[in-house]
Amino acid sequence: MARRLVIIGGDAAGMSAAAQARRMTSTGELEIVAFERSTRTSYAACGLPYLVGGFVKAPDSLVARTPQQHRANGIDVRTRHDVVAIDTQASAVTVRDLDAAAESTLRYDELLIGTGASGISPPWPGIDAHGVLQLRTLDDAAQVERLLGAGARRAVVVGAGYIGLEVAEGLLERGLAVTVVERLDAPMGAVLDADMAAGVAQAMRAAGIDLRLHTAVTGFTTVGGRVTAVETASGPFEADLVLIGLGVRPNVELARAAGIGVGAAGGILVDNHQRTDTPHIWAAGDCVESHHRVTGRSVVVALGTHANKQGRVAGTNIAGGEVTFGGVLGTAITRFKELEIARTGLTEQEAAAAGFDAIGVTTEALNRAHYFPDAQPMKIKIVAERGTGRLLGAQIVGGEGAGKRIDVFATALWNNMSVAEVGGMDLSYAPPFSPVWDPVLLAAGKSASSI
Ligand code: FAD
Repeated sequence: MARRLVIIGGDAAGMSAAAQARRMTSTGELEIVAFERSTRTSYAACGLPYLVGGFVKAPDSLVARTPQQHRANGIDVRTRHDVVAIDTQASAVTVRDLDAAAESTLRYDELLIGTGASGISPPWPGIDAHGVLQLRTLDDAAQVERLLGAGARRAVVVGAGYIGLEVAEGLLERGLAVTVVERLDAPMGAVLDADMAAGVAQAMRAAGIDLRLHTAVTGFTTVGGRVTAVETASGPFEADLVLIGLGVRPNVELARAAGIGVGAAGGILVDNHQRTDTPHIWAAGDCVESHHRVTGRSVVVALGTHANKQGRVAGTNIAGGEVTFGGVLGTAITRFKELEIARTGLTEQEAAAAGFDAIGVTTEALNRAHYFPDAQPMKIKIVAERGTGRLLGAQIVGGEGAGKRIDVFATALWNNMSVAEVGGMDLSYAPPFSPVWDPVLLAAGKSASSI
C-alpha cells in the first residue's frame, strides 16, 4: 500500500516539496495530498508589486502551476481546504472544507508544514477599513486594481522595506500621488546601513515620492467604513488607498498547538534535512527558522529563494533521498526605478550587534569604463572582521548592473573568503560592463587595505 505524504500550504515550499517527491516516487509508492486554503497554488508573490505597477500585465502569468496542473502530475491538491489541527499521536490532520463547511481527518505517514508567513498587522484603529490592505496574494492585487478603477488618486505606503519600496514604485507608475511613511530614520532600515540607505531616500524623493521618515502611524481616519487618511504622530496624510508593508511573522500556530518545536526567532525549528523535532513531520519556507552561515544563529529570513530550496530538500528526503539545506546569508535584491539595491551577509550594524569587531568600508565606482556612454555610479559597502579580514557582508546601491554584483559577494561569503581574496578574484571585464578593475575588486581591495 502507498505511504501518504500530506502537505499543508500549496505555494513555494509546499508545492516544491510535492513536485520533488512526485519526481522521485510513483503514485503506487507515495500518495501526495496537498491542502491549500486559498484557490491558487504555486503563485509568485514576488511578482505582485510589478503586477500592481503594470510592468506585468496578466495576473495568471504569475501562477507557475495551477491546481489542475499539479493534479495532472499526480498530486492530489485540495484548494479551499484549511488544516485546523495536527494530531501527532494519531498521525492525522483535521481539515475544514471551506465550501462544504465540513470537517474531516486524514492520516499521514509523512507531513510537511509549508504554511508560510503573514504580514504584520498592528492593532491600529481603522486598520480593517475599506482601502487599507497588504499585498500578499493575487486577490490583494485585484483589490488594488479595483480601488484604482474606482478612482483612487492618493496612496500611502506604510513601511519602507522591500515590499513598500516596490509597491511605491508601482503606484507611482500608475500615476498616483504616493506618500511613504516609515518609523525609522531611513528607508530599507532593516536591510541597509543608514549611509547606504541615504541614496535610496534621495532616489525616492527625486521620483516624486513624499517620503516621511521618523514618522509613526497611530491609526486611520475612516468615513463610512472607507479610509480617508493615515494618522501619524506628525499629523494626517490623506489617502484613498493604504498599503501596509511592515514585514512578516511565520505562521506557526498549528505547529505550536501540536507541540512541534518553535524557536526564539518565531519560526518552526528544523534540522538541515528540514525535519522538525517531531518524527515524520517536516517544515520548509517562510514558517521555519534557518541556520545563518555568518552568525551561526537560527533566524527567520522569509524569501522565496529559501522556500523553494527548502521545499525541494524536504521533498527529496521524504522520498528517500539524502540532501541538506546549506543555510542562509540573507542575500536579497530589489530596485527603485533605475536604482538597484542589494545586500548579503551582515550590515555593519548587524555585525556589531552579533558581537563582531567589524569595519565597514564604502567605495564609489562606475558600472562601465569611464569613457563608455551612460556609465553610472554605484556604491559598495563591504563589512569585514577587523584583524582577520574575513568578509562578513556587502551592500550595493547603484545603476544598471550594480545589484546582481551582490552574487559575487554572496559566493565569496558562502565560501568563507577574506576581503583580500575577493580583491584578487578573476572577474570579467569589457568597457560596456565594467571598468578594468570591477567595482567589486576595487571595493574589496580598499576594504583589505583598511583592516
Ligand atoms: P507562502 O507563499 O506564504 O505559502 C503558504 C501557503 O500556505 C499559502 O498559500 C497559504 O494560503 C497556505 N496555508 C497557510 N496555512 C494553511 C492552513 N492551515 N491550511 C491550508 N493552507 C494553509 N522573495 C524573494 O526571494 N524575492 C522577492 O523579490 C520577493 N518578493 C516578494 C514580494 C511580495 C509582495 C511578497 C508578499 C513576498 C515576496 N517574497 C520575495 C517572499 C516570497 O514570496 C515568500 O518567501 C514565499 O512565497 C514563501 O513561500 P512559502 O511557501 O513558504 O509560503
